[in-house]
Amino acid sequence: MSISSAIDVRDAIARGERTATDVCESSLARIDAVDAAGPALHAFQTVMADRARARAAALDRLPAPAGPLHGVPIALKDNIVVRGVVATAGSRMLETFVSPYDATVVERLEAAGAVIIGKTTCDEFAMGSSTENSAFGPAKNPVDPTRTPGGSSGGSAVAVAAGMTPVSLGSDTGGSIRQPAALCGITGLKPTYGRVSRYGLIAFASSLDQIGPLATTARDAALVLETIAGHDPRDATSARLPVPSFTGALTGSVAGMRIGVPSRLLEQGVDPEVRQAFDATAAMLGAYGATIVDIELPHSRHAIPVYYLLATAEASANLARYDGVRYGRRAPGAGSLAQMYEATRGRGFGAEVKRRVMLGTYVLSAGYYDAYYLKAQQVRTLIRRDFDAAFAAVDTILMPTSPVPAFRFGERLANPLQMYLADVFTVSANLAGIPAVSVPCGATRAGLPIGAQFLGKPWDEASILRCADACERLTSRA
Ligand code: GLN
Repeated sequence: MSISSAIDVRDAIARGERTATDVCESSLARIDAVDAAGPALHAFQTVMADRARARAAALDRLPAPAGPLHGVPIALKDNIVVRGVVATAGSRMLETFVSPYDATVVERLEAAGAVIIGKTTCDEFAMGSSTENSAFGPAKNPVDPTRTPGGSSGGSAVAVAAGMTPVSLGSDTGGSIRQPAALCGITGLKPTYGRVSRYGLIAFASSLDQIGPLATTARDAALVLETIAGHDPRDATSARLPVPSFTGALTGSVAGMRIGVPSRLLEQGVDPEVRQAFDATAAMLGAYGATIVDIELPHSRHAIPVYYLLATAEASANLARYDGVRYGRRAPGAGSLAQMYEATRGRGFGAEVKRRVMLGTYVLSAGYYDAYYLKAQQVRTLIRRDFDAAFAAVDTILMPTSPVPAFRFGERLANPLQMYLADVFTVSANLAGIPAVSVPCGATRAGLPIGAQFLGKPWDEASILRCADACERLTSRA
């Protein structure tokens, strides 16, 4: 039996038609068939078969369902830690690092009855847009394995798109949940900054990082978000706000909603087929009762430089901890402490991570701080204010997720700037701290998926999920 949506799996188990064990076996069999063998999609960095089987068996012995994800298999990006399991974050630096504790999202998922199947392929320390920066080889797009699945949570997108698990978690610092979701034809949500605890997420850029779900339906994404969201005393940036019922917000209708489209921002650099699918989606929402409003986000054209100054600055500070002393890799051989640091970091980090640590250190250094880091912080504020102004007039904002469909391996790797441009429409939501969800909105003539994203007011994941769910239902009706 194959894996269907998380809610279908859970309900089938509740009705006694399936067991957590047989669902877990289906998931593991699918991984065997397409991930390691066959097309060898390499979604998984680590498959936790024994642990998953033991968890499923324990769930099957319970007299009543453990929670709303009872028996649902889930995959986690390999930068989210599980106690006793290796967490590489795609880096040689952490190749043998076994986490001594669980991330808060892991505790919450397991308390709700989810079965963690494994850890997925990602760009090293989540830096990238294709998984090509993973030290252990990239994941492949299930729609066309000669193309990347996007990144950095590419493996999490592939696991869901290829039917290995119904849902997965990724992390999104500048688009890493939404862009791979778009390129693989599924749904991916970045919550409001502070909605989900980052405790146990291996840090990249702490003022931007958020954990969120990838799924085949907006409803599944809403259910997973409900489960993992909420205040956590172990993450000072997690908000003390009640978590509404996100599944309860899915009315299937956009009638009466005001949806903003920043048409000026989309004038350049969007692939014609992406543009066509996007326009058709906006028109469809209009036809079903939404009011499409032209809005301006004048400072978002600076989003890429602002993001790559701030994200690299924060990364250079966060990655200082990998010094070979406390944890992770230590380069062998005698010598001075400085030589040990150099050898450890020289061999442990890949080229993109080194580039970012150097860029970030540069923009934070005396003499350059004001010109780069401080200026970028100021423009970040302007970008956020543009959103505040836009949201005075609209409920949600619609934009393409990625300017292009899935690209081929190697196509953008040689030119970091080309790779960074993949994030042109995704980074603003992180800079502004607002929630955004990517949904499938069509395909190219060659069959490559296209995604569009709804951005929402802070804490209003409900409205963007409602739009995403409506889009899904209206598209299937059309
Ligand atoms: N592609 C972006 C980057 O390389 C975003 C990564 C992310 O969201 N983790 O930084």
